[in-house]
Amino acid sequence: MLGPSTRAVHAGLPEREQGEPLLAGPVLAANFHLRGPVDSTPYGYGRDANPTWSALEQALGSLDGGSSLTFASGMAAVTATLVGLVAPGETVVVTQDGYSGVRLVASERLAPARVKLRFVDTDSEEIVDACAGASLVWVETPSNPRLDVADIRAVADAAHAAGALLVVDNTLATPLGQTPLELGADLVVTSGTKSLCGHSDLLLGVVSTRDERLLERLRAWRSQAGSVAGAFEAWLAHRSLATLALRIERSNANALALAQALSERGDVLDVRYPGLPSHRGHAVAAAQMRHYGCLVGFTLADAARAQAFLGACRLIAEATSFGGVHTTAERRGRWGTDGVHEGFIRLSAGCEDVADLLADVDQALARTV
Ligand SMILES: *Cc1c(COP(=O)(O)O)cnc(C)c1O
Repeated sequence: MLGPSTRAVHAGLPEREQGEPLLAGPVLAANFHLRGPVDSTPYGYGRDANPTWSALEQALGSLDGGSSLTFASGMAAVTATLVGLVAPGETVVVTQDGYSGVRLVASERLAPARVKLRFVDTDSEEIVDACAGASLVWVETPSNPRLDVADIRAVADAAHAAGALLVVDNTLATPLGQTPLELGADLVVTSGTKSLCGHSDLLLGVVSTRDERLLERLRAWRSQAGSVAGAFEAWLAHRSLATLALRIERSNANALALAQALSERGDVLDVRYPGLPSHRGHAVAAAQMRHYGCLVGFTLADAARAQAFLGACRLIAEATSFGGVHTTAERRGRWGTDGVHEGFIRLSAGCEDVADLLADVDQALARTV
């Protein structure tokens, strides 16, 4: 099989036709010519299928090692999976240190529909112990913002022994960082808004699976909910995939260098990065990940110092989200959604030169003692 960087560049490209572009442009269409039987082409109406999605989905499927569906956003992919595949009376296990939107869908949509919820830490043993009687297990690893790591293979075995589906939210790692379907997950959900597309210019969601029946249920959900990606976004996403390997290599190397530098300082507490040998989940991360992600967590004395630090950064922009080519950071406590220290900062390393990022952090910390 071709290497992941090669697949990221070549995946989903059309046949080589004389005079045709290497990557076809976006097909902006609400409806298509459809004469006679409605199943004579996949492309009849733009809420069901679009050739630009098909090309992108082929590319994403090749990276994830399954078949993929694209959605309007990461949350559209989350709700398709969580609401679309779970029935009243069933039990769902959800890791609580994860994207707040997932917890909200669980507690505000599933719980009122008589779905039983079990919230657990991103700790392999705790997840394994919670699987009995569940029908779906949702794990985000590395978790966010604490960056804890779960052993996907161990959790998949426990979920399957209980007759449950395992869903892994792979937004942080991307398929170049880890491939959950190969480690036993049934479904992998990715917000393309973050590292996958990486330019902070679009929203997109992806669900991939090797199970054709699950794929068809999710496809039906997408048509019914209408949670479809725009053709232009899908094309931009496909274009962005070609640089995924370059962006991941640079941003992840920058994240490691920043984590190392921060962990050597006396005025910075609790530096978290799965690639640091001192990180609690490092051994599992080293065994199942090819890259450790762009996010670094660290804690300054209090909210005031953390805000002052962010205000003193010159290159690093204060912004939410992560995975873009520009380095960003924010004080997570400002949202009130994550159980973190008020001085906790989540930094997303971008693709700048590492020396410039280290210098920016140094000068900003020095100016805000
Ligand atoms: C951002 C994010 C989502 C939601 O994605 P959107 O594209 O913002 O809807 C889901 N899961 C994780 C882990 C995320 O970081």
